[in-house]
Amino acid sequence: MLTGGDFPKYRGRMEYVCLGCGQRYDIRELYYTCPKCSGVFVLEDTTFDSLAEFPPSYWQSLFDKRAATRTTGLRGIFRYHELTAPVVEEQDIVYLGEGHTPMVAANDALREKVGVPFFYKNDGQNPSASFKDRGMACAFSYLKHLVRANDWDSVLTVCASTGDTSASAALYAAYVGGPIKSAVILPKGKVTPQQLAQPLGSGATVLEVPGVFDDCMKVVEYLADNYRVALLNSKNAWRILGQESYAFEIAQWRAYDTYRTCVFVPIGNAGNITAIMGGFLKLKRLGIIPSLPRIFGVQSEHADPVYRYYSVAEAKKRRYEPVAVTPSVAQAAMIGNPVSFPRVKHFAEQYEKIGGPGSFQVIRVSEQDIIEGMLLANRHGHISCTQGGECLAGLRAAVTLGLVEPSEESILDATAHHLKFIGFQDMYYTNTFPPEYGITPRPEFVNAPETVISDDDKASLSPADYTAKAAQAVVTRLGLTGRG
Ligand SMILES: *Cc1c(COP(=O)(O)O)cnc(C)c1O
Ligand SMILES: [Zn+2]
Repeated sequence: MLTGGDFPKYRGRMEYVCLGCGQRYDIRELYYTCPKCSGVFVLEDTTFDSLAEFPPSYWQSLFDKRAATRTTGLRGIFRYHELTAPVVEEQDIVYLGEGHTPMVAANDALREKVGVPFFYKNDGQNPSASFKDRGMACAFSYLKHLVRANDWDSVLTVCASTGDTSASAALYAAYVGGPIKSAVILPKGKVTPQQLAQPLGSGATVLEVPGVFDDCMKVVEYLADNYRVALLNSKNAWRILGQESYAFEIAQWRAYDTYRTCVFVPIGNAGNITAIMGGFLKLKRLGIIPSLPRIFGVQSEHADPVYRYYSVAEAKKRRYEPVAVTPSVAQAAMIGNPVSFPRVKHFAEQYEKIGGPGSFQVIRVSEQDIIEGMLLANRHGHISCTQGGECLAGLRAAVTLGLVEPSEESILDATAHHLKFIGFQDMYYTNTFPPEYGITPRPEFVNAPETVISDDDKASLSPADYTAKAAQAVVTRLGLTGRG
């Protein structure tokens, strides 16, 4: 039997809650931001506390049991259906294999170099090769539910993107098909060739705008105000819900014990870090984890508005100001005016209230340290992207600052797959970074292919002689000695 009839019966009562003015809205309407004040929403299940009628052990074993389920709708992020979006019916769930991403421990050599034990959680092993799929699976499942409930005959989904949001949105739209079509708006020349190829391959309408992500975002905001489209940027509160699954998975993989655990997350639009904090807070509320892990947001010196805000120690003196970004190898996080900043504040406050001082912090790192963080990780068997490199740079900075102790274990978010960002690796290897990046390659990190035999030899020698000469060249290069 493929669907085992074990789909959860619990249905929550969900509402949009505006973080600007506090107004609540019905979820049957497709809202993106607050119609009254343009504030961002969080989605709240007003009957959530009824879940506490079951003891933590009930939830722990339920989620563990579902980790082996054959029920498709419970195989991905909806394994945590009751905590995620308990209004979505089984028939509407879109599952493309998202979630369940592995946590890979740093080997002895890397751990020694960094000075503390840590893991990479490889969210690049999601279907479109970034964590964005967690949120899209939720947003598209809810959208499918709305389309069915309202009998809509066509819906256009639109998003601005630093590359991965559009890759993910286009993939899920292509799969759902039917009335759902997708258009993506990209900053021209500011996404990697791989990220551009993804929505093109999924058949989305790809529209380019000169400028940076923040420019694209303004276009999308204009559309949101004036036209009927389903917006899939991370202001979309359904995406945030899906991304909470990252926190749930960490807790589950650590046997629901996150004591003395630190979680490092790169901050761009700040949707991911708020989802992760929100997810851990939910688990804590139900007692599923006894204590909160500490959260470290990481930003580049080239795009650091959240760092700047929290770098002022006294909360009352903090002031949020957008920054103008300069080119960053952590390109997917190269955002000067993060739309989810109000959510960060909202969740960080709750987080610190329960987790105490130091349970939420933001670290700033250099471009040089970000790219070398990625190179170092990958030379020790990881598949980290540049944003994952940013996390490693953040962990190393935290160790230097005495913020993380050797007795703590850290989990670093490799938010995308290495292959999406190989262009930056190539610039490092060939010393071709434009000066704005401020990156100088160091020989110990550089690697390049070596040609061992010439094209002329290939053309002039007999096949047997060519093979012998090529093999001899390899022997010489590797210093091989015969079998004796
Ligand atoms: C989107 C993205 C980020 C930034 O996440 P936010 O939720 O915008 O803070 C980081 N890394 C990768 C690979 C991304 O695609
Ligand atoms: Zn409002």
